[in-house]
Amino acid sequence: MKIGIIGLGLIGGSLGLDLTKRGYEVIGVSRQQKTCELAVQNQAVTEASLDLSILAKTELIFVCTPIGAILSTISKIIPHLSPNTIITDVGSVKSAIVYDATKLWANFVGSHPMAGTANQGIEAAEYNLFENAPCVITPFGSTNHEAVKKVSQIWEAIDCKIYKATPEIHDQAVAWISHLPVMISSNLIDSCINDENKDVVSLAQQIASSGFRDTSRVGGANVELGLMMAQYNREQLLSTLKKYQQNLNLITDHIEKENWQKLQEILTNTQKQRPKFID
Ligand code: NAP
Repeated sequence: MKIGIIGLGLIGGSLGLDLTKRGYEVIGVSRQQKTCELAVQNQAVTEASLDLSILAKTELIFVCTPIGAILSTISKIIPHLSPNTIITDVGSVKSAIVYDATKLWANFVGSHPMAGTANQGIEAAEYNLFENAPCVITPFGSTNHEAVKKVSQIWEAIDCKIYKATPEIHDQAVAWISHLPVMISSNLIDSCINDENKDVVSLAQQIASSGFRDTSRVGGANVELGLMMAQYNREQLLSTLKKYQQNLNLITDHIEKENWQKLQEILTNTQKQRPKFID
């Protein structure tokens, strides 16, 4: 099976590495010659080009560009494709993409692999990024069932665990577990560096270790991605931010009033609940 990948960055490049390793023929498209050369050299793709017409030979195409470029990229590849070609994307938001993409191309299925690192570009691509990672497929009423099956099979072939959800449920869930954490994590770093006592900031920077590493990681990662999460999942992110602020006020209130019993109840409950999200 010939598979196309547009956008040979962290996700597109890593996908290519796992697919070529499993014997798929992978055709890559990038906007830069040096990315094409590196992708071929690293075996992330079998061949690569700046020219979208190279995708005419493919049966399934993964659009792995930044969120803001996904729809325009689909419009640009359509003139080169045969009607049976399936297109999917890897964007971290789904409602803003899936409905318009399906209007452009009936054989479109939205996907979102829940895997990543803090790095960007083809240099950041790595093998086994998707191993045991959840991948959410977001069909809705008019989505082609065969296309859903084929896209799911490819993600499963690189060891993803498939979940299906509507684009709306996906966007609400990722607002909680991915987009809100980026904003909280960024705010943590921002609040800390803006402490008025520079000696405190200086010592904090020198002694920060595992706890700060865990809680600040996503706030110190891909800026473009964080911005697009907010722009393209704005309503859901705002809703979670407001609920989070209310809850934070409650915790602040308990501490101000020295209501340790209530604080203990919250901490005991979150300790019990965390394994339901992360093993
Ligand atoms: P990335 O490393 O920056 O890769 C994106 C690649 O797309 C770039 O290397 C670039 O390659 C190309 N590109 C950039 N702007 C473009 C444009 N305007 N038009 C066409 N191509 C463009 O980013 P990524 O982390 O792989 O993210 C790609 C997609 O994966 C996003 O839609 C994101 O939502 C999704 N995603 C990311 C993560 C994550 O944690 N990083 C996780 C799951 C899903 P060239 O310059 O060589 O063309």
